Amino acid sequence: MKIFCGRANPTTGTMEWLEEDENYDYHQEIARSRYADMLHDKDRNVKYYQGIRAAVRRVKERGEKAIVLDIGTGTGLLSMMAASAGADFCYAVEVFKPMANAAVKIVEKNGFRDKIKVINKHSTEVTVGPDGDMQCRANILVTELFDTELIGEGALPTYEHAHKYLVQEGCEAVPHRATVYVQLVESKRMWSWNKLFPVHVEAEDGEKIIVSPSEMDNCPGVPSVCDIQLNQMPSSDFTILSDVVTMFSVDFSKPVRSASTYYKVQLEPVKSGKAQIVLSWWDIDMDPSGMINCTMAPYWVKSTSAFQWRDHWMQCVYFLPNEQPVLQGEKVYLTACRDEYSVWYKLQKARGEEENKADVRVESPVCRCQAHLLWNRPRFGELNDKNRTRQYINSLMKVLKTDSVCLCVSDGSLLPVLAYYLGAKQIFKANHLEDKIKIIEARPELLTSSHLEDKKV
Ligand code: SAH
Repeated sequence: MKIFCGRANPTTGTMEWLEEDENYDYHQEIARSRYADMLHDKDRNVKYYQGIRAAVRRVKERGEKAIVLDIGTGTGLLSMMAASAGADFCYAVEVFKPMANAAVKIVEKNGFRDKIKVINKHSTEVTVGPDGDMQCRANILVTELFDTELIGEGALPTYEHAHKYLVQEGCEAVPHRATVYVQLVESKRMWSWNKLFPVHVEAEDGEKIIVSPSEMDNCPGVPSVCDIQLNQMPSSDFTILSDVVTMFSVDFSKPVRSASTYYKVQLEPVKSGKAQIVLSWWDIDMDPSGMINCTMAPYWVKSTSAFQWRDHWMQCVYFLPNEQPVLQGEKVYLTACRDEYSVWYKLQKARGEEENKADVRVESPVCRCQAHLLWNRPRFGELNDKNRTRQYINSLMKVLKTDSVCLCVSDGSLLPVLAYYLGAKQIFKANHLEDKIKIIEARPELLTSSHLEDKKV
């Protein structure tokens, strides 16, 4: 048997599939993944341990045995915490086989073999009963199934299923609840990651402006979350337009519904400006009292100076479908829509209630203009970078003559348009653009002189 492993090609930026032998050593894959980052996240680990200890104590105080279900056990860490905290038995479920194998070894090495059963299955396949994977339903549910967007790793359907089939009613959950926060901002820098700004070209015969087609202007982009380290965003790069508000929260100790829904909040802008971006992050309370809190709040919100560096949980940047002027003190409504795996936002002026009710649902952002499929967000940022464009223009002006024939080897670059405006007669390009630009759909290494109509580049 052969196994396909995905690998990013650093030269082309594309994902490629490599065929590996069935005995392929996954250690490298695991080392490159986020497991190590999670294990080094001391703030996370300490709070999970506190939350797990408190949950085991509550169950014991009720005179019950503590039976733990740890969904997505990874290295087995949270199950071992539970066993150390006095849990009577832990079911550690892990779908990724190499990881489940690692968990078995780690559990064994740490002396927890009698207390922890590793189950190499997706949680929705786990059976309960005398002959099942689990002898009985658990009364403590422990998971760490969250990504930067909270729900992007499928936490909601997993919880929904677990409450129906794998845990007792009234079970303890660690974490107990998650809360998603939002803040409305104006930010030219962040906006430049989703829209193409007009590009100004100073040509010999006057200024030319490269504009994007209207489909692109009105395109909502793609639904994949834009996750960044907001703590590295200087405050001069954005203007805060609203206070931080709670968008929604999920109680993991109660049945969870994963079906698509929406949440709406009223915002009163603290400043007038152009609403473009919704910044968002979440926190988790490890216990019902909210005393054990692990937060992703960025530096301008967090009161504590203790700062945990983590790459596995960052903050989200959501692009509103269009930029919208807002006035200080004039209320607006922000709607968060979500499906099972992703969240997207819409801003509305406070109009009549009926009108607002009617069009509250917003469709998931799906790119209609193709550009968002071709260019990722850093690439949009690059194309919008005026300084970078200026350097290209200066260099092109040095080499271009009116009878130049240009060959542009690129994936969705604006260079052919720049070169055309700067005077090159004919430009060939290996991707989309029109008019004086001939598009050659061929890999550069397969180009022949007939592609170039026997012209010399
Ligand atoms: N619990 C570990 C690892 C968390 S990473 C820790 O806290 O350090 C999440 C893990 O959950 C991944 O290994 C992933 O493969 C697994 N996973 C996600 N959803 C799952 C599901 N529904 N059933 C089983 N495993 C799941």
